[in-house]
Amino acid sequence: MAIPARHSFWWDAAPLRDAALPLPLAARLPTRTQVLVVGAGFTGLSAALVLAHAGRQVLVVDAGPPGFGASTRNGGQVGSGNQKFRVAALVARMGERKAVALLREGVEMLDGIERLIAEEGIDCDFVRCGRFRGAMRPAHYEAMARDMEDLGRLAGVGFEMVPKADQHREIGSDLFCGGALLPGDASLDPGRYHQGLLARALDAGVRVEGQARVRGIETAAPGAGHVVRFDGHAVAAREVLVATNGYTCGVGAYLRRRIVPIVSAQIATGAVPADLMDRAMPRRRVYGNSNRVFFYFRPAPRGSRIVFGGRAAHVRPQSAPSAHAHLARALLSVFPDLAAVPVTHVFSGAIGYTNDNFPHLGADQDGVFHALGYCGTGVSRATHFGRKIAWRMLGRPEGRSAFDDLPFPAHPLRALAPVGVPLVEAWYRLRDRGNF
Ligand SMILES: Cc1cc2nc3c(=O)[nH]c(=O)nc-3n(C[C@H](O)[C@H](O)[C@H](O)COP(=O)(O)OP(=O)(O)OC[C@H]3O[C@@H](n4cnc5c(N)ncnc54)[C@H](O)[C@@H]3O)c2cc1C
Repeated sequence: MAIPARHSFWWDAAPLRDAALPLPLAARLPTRTQVLVVGAGFTGLSAALVLAHAGRQVLVVDAGPPGFGASTRNGGQVGSGNQKFRVAALVARMGERKAVALLREGVEMLDGIERLIAEEGIDCDFVRCGRFRGAMRPAHYEAMARDMEDLGRLAGVGFEMVPKADQHREIGSDLFCGGALLPGDASLDPGRYHQGLLARALDAGVRVEGQARVRGIETAAPGAGHVVRFDGHAVAAREVLVATNGYTCGVGAYLRRRIVPIVSAQIATGAVPADLMDRAMPRRRVYGNSNRVFFYFRPAPRGSRIVFGGRAAHVRPQSAPSAHAHLARALLSVFPDLAAVPVTHVFSGAIGYTNDNFPHLGADQDGVFHALGYCGTGVSRATHFGRKIAWRMLGRPEGRSAFDDLPFPAHPLRALAPVGVPLVEAWYRLRDRGNF
C-alpha cells in the first residue's frame, strides 16, 4: 500500500507560497510600519484586509510560510461556534441577556464569513451544506435535543432532531443513536479560502512576509508605539496585533499564560466509489459525534474523498505511522464498508484553547492587540474576530463585540500543559467509553 503524504490535504489544491531561500530579514522587512500583524492565518489576514481598506500601512509576518498554521490544516467545517456551549450552562454562567448576545454573535459570524467570501469573490467552495452531529448514546441524543431547543429559542437557530430510525437519510452508518441537524452550517475548502484572503490582502496593499519569526515585542510606554524584534532585525510599529492562536510563541508572557495549544489531526482518503459515497453521506453535509474527545468528517469538495479528523494520538514523533492509525480506525467504526479505500494524507495542526472556553479579543496592558483562542472552531471565528479587532483598532463602532468585556483568565497550570493535556484527554476518553 502507498505511504500517505505527510502534508495538509488542502495544500495540493492551494500550495503555500514561499521563497525556497528567502533573503535575510533585514533585506525583506521595513524598519517601520503603521501596523504589524503577527500571524498570517485567517485572523491576521482578515484584520489586515480591513486595516488596508481603511488606508493603514500594514505588514503581516509569519514564522512559517503564510498559512503555515491551522488555517490551511483544518476540516473546513463552518459553524457559529455555538455548538461549543451547552446553552443552559451558558445561561446559568452568564445570565440570559449576555448568553443571548454571545449566541447571536455566533450566528452573525456564520453569516459574516459567507458575506465576506461573496463580496471578495473568493473561490473556495463555500456551501451551506448543513451539519449532522451523531449521538453516541441515547442520553446524548436527549441532551442534544434539549440544547437545540434552547439554541432555537434564544438565538433563532434552525435545527431538526433526527431519530435513529430516520438517520440513514442523513448518514449511512449505524454507529449513532440519532443526531441533530443544523441546516445552516457550512463547509469550504480552507486552503483555497486562505489563498483567496491572502490574494485580496496583497491586492489591497498589505505586505506579507513569511519565514519571519517574531522573538519579542517591546513597549517603552503606553501609546508610544512598539518595537518588534526578529533575529537580527527590528521593526517599529505604531500598533501591533497578535494573531497566533494555537501557535502562540515569542509574543510575550501575557498570551503564553492564556493559550493552551492542543494538536488536532486529520486523514484524507483516496477516491470513494460513487455508490458507497451516496450511501455514506447522501446529503454531503459536514459531520461529527457527541463525545468529549470527538471526531469530525466530511466529503472533500469537488471529488469523492473523505477528510476525517480528531484529536492527535500522543505518539512521538507525530510523523510515526501509528500517530494517525486511530483516525483510520474511527473512520471504519462509522463506515465499515470503506475498509478497501486507502488513506492518502495524514496531517495535524495546533488549535488554541483558553481557560474559559471563550475566544478573546482585546489588548494587553501595553496596548498590544490580540484576537485568538477559538477552541477548535476558528474558520468563522478567526475571520470574525480578525475583522472585529481591526475595526476596534480603527476606533469604529463595528468593532464592538459581545465577547469584548469577558475577563481573560490565565491558566494557573499552563506550564504543565505538555503533560496535563494528554492526561485530561485520557480521562475524557475513559468517560466517553464508560458514559460517566
Ligand atoms: C486539524 C485541525 C482541524 C480543524 N478543523 C476546524 C474546522 O473544521 N472548523 C473550524 O471552524 N475550525 C477548525 N480548526 C480550527 C481553525 O483552523 C483555527 O481556529 C483557525 O485556523 C485559527 O486561525 P488563526 O489565523 O487565528 O491562526 P493560525 O492559522 O493557526 O495562524 C497562526 C500563525 O501564527 C504564526 N506565528 C505564531 N507565532 C509566531 C511568531 N512568534 N512570529 C511570527 N509568526 C508566528 C504561525 O506560524 C501561524 O501560521 C481546526 C484546526 C486544526 C488544527
